[in-house]
Amino acid sequence: METFSISSAVQKRLDKPQPMLTGGDWHLAEDNSVSDIYNPSNGEILGVAASATRADCERAITAARSTFDAGVWTGFTPAQRGKILWRAADLLELYADEIAELEMLDAGKSFSGVREGEIPFAADCFRYYAGWCTKIEGSTKQLSTVPDQEFHIYTRREPIGVAALIVPWNGPLVQAAWKVAPALAAGCSCILKPATETPLSSVRLGEILLEAGVPPGVFNLLLGGGSTVGQLLAEHPDVDKVSFTGSTEVGKQIIDAARGNLKKVSLELGGKSPVIVYADADIEAAIAGIAQGIFSHAGQVCVAGSRLYVEESIYEQVVEGVAKIAREMRVGPATTEGMDMGPLISQRHLTSVCKMVQAGIDSGARLLTGGERIEGQGGYYLQPTVFADTKHGMQIVEEEIFGPVLVAMPFSPDADIAAIANANAYGLAASVWTRDISKAHKTAARIKAGILWINCHGIPDAAIPFGGYRQSGWGRENGFESLLQYTELKSVVALL
Ligand code: NAP
Ligand code: MG
Repeated sequence: METFSISSAVQKRLDKPQPMLTGGDWHLAEDNSVSDIYNPSNGEILGVAASATRADCERAITAARSTFDAGVWTGFTPAQRGKILWRAADLLELYADEIAELEMLDAGKSFSGVREGEIPFAADCFRYYAGWCTKIEGSTKQLSTVPDQEFHIYTRREPIGVAALIVPWNGPLVQAAWKVAPALAAGCSCILKPATETPLSSVRLGEILLEAGVPPGVFNLLLGGGSTVGQLLAEHPDVDKVSFTGSTEVGKQIIDAARGNLKKVSLELGGKSPVIVYADADIEAAIAGIAQGIFSHAGQVCVAGSRLYVEESIYEQVVEGVAKIAREMRVGPATTEGMDMGPLISQRHLTSVCKMVQAGIDSGARLLTGGERIEGQGGYYLQPTVFADTKHGMQIVEEEIFGPVLVAMPFSPDADIAAIANANAYGLAASVWTRDISKAHKTAARIKAGILWINCHGIPDAAIPFGGYRQSGWGRENGFESLLQYTELKSVVALL
């Protein structure tokens, strides 16, 4: 088993229970309860994190409510708010080495991937929304039935209030940034709840936001389980908005929980994103893109290209090409540089992915490569897995696996491939591979997905709206569209 020495700065953090942040105070749970934090690369316990009681949740909600109602954050000028968000981005970069180490240990991501990818990406998200702070505006309107000079009518965009932000474990820092940055840009007070599996980077983010100048109580952090803390946030009458990223199943529970005060809900949920490869595609580029689209972060990516459709004349070549990449991938600890794929997040998740692989085998799909656990490293590893000749109706084709498991199917040139790809409950993302630009855009128009890539897969950006059709969610993250979801729109009609 490899050995990795944790830096003294990170070890010092891990030696203490991870605290929560309420009204500017860092504290543990009222009853001192904690939960273990695991390193998915070796299965060892890294430390413990506070686990909020109901009283801790009430305290955080009260802090957010009172700062919002007192106009603490909206009392800053938009330019001041923008400067603070920009400073948060600078601090994320300043502390990048430490944050990358935390995320590597906690979420099983490679140091360089976080250092060079996710941290710049999260920082860019804060800078993108820093720019929006000074550009939130309404418009003037005209009554349709009355001459213009008799009324003055305008709209105002106002912050929605207290926003609960619930994020999963697969991209803890980036997913937090995608919610915290627009919520703060809009002028909301917020409460972040990371997944129990991955609290570390959100504690660091809380410190950074305070250091950047976000006033105490405007950003609050609760740690603890979804069925307790998350559920309470979704139900609470003093929370005006819940923004959730995670499973479709929990997304539906959030909707139920939110009915009490009809808080606004946005949901970024699961996917089973199709990848369509036409015979005229650049085959080598497609093979590399498909492998990257399903195996990056061991398939624990909401937009993973997990359902592959290849035109029959190149089907064997493409699936064999992807399988070859899979066979050659080095799978191992995130803490070892040079690995192509790291661990799954937890024993529980590994078990659930393995069950799906078995279901694939049992349903008669052809296992081209992978499917086995990799033992001996202590962590939660699965071989990159490719199933060929799968069929609609099989569980592995219909359901999100959230692991490094690809299902592949051929299609004939006269098939209506867009309709076939659309025959799934999800609609998060898709990609189309072809050299024919007309075919690419025609297919793009017909696929039911919130984001569609042509000749690439899995490229998000703070400026590009991102979210799901169908059971992949409600609303959009990123872009101006996300900011709007942290606002209410008011129309003011004045009789002159
Ligand atoms: P999950 O249960 O949906 O968890 C996501 C977040 O919601 C976590 O912070 C979780 O807290 C919290 N949560 C859980 N139950 C809640 C409830 N009743 N009310 C409010 N919040 C609640 O996802 P998971 O169990 O970690 O993963 C399960 C599956 O979800 C995956 O296999 C994958 O299919 C999907 N998933 C999708 C995405 C995505 O990006 N779209 C991300 C992650 C997972 P705790 O975890 O602390 O309990
Ligand atoms: Mg869960």
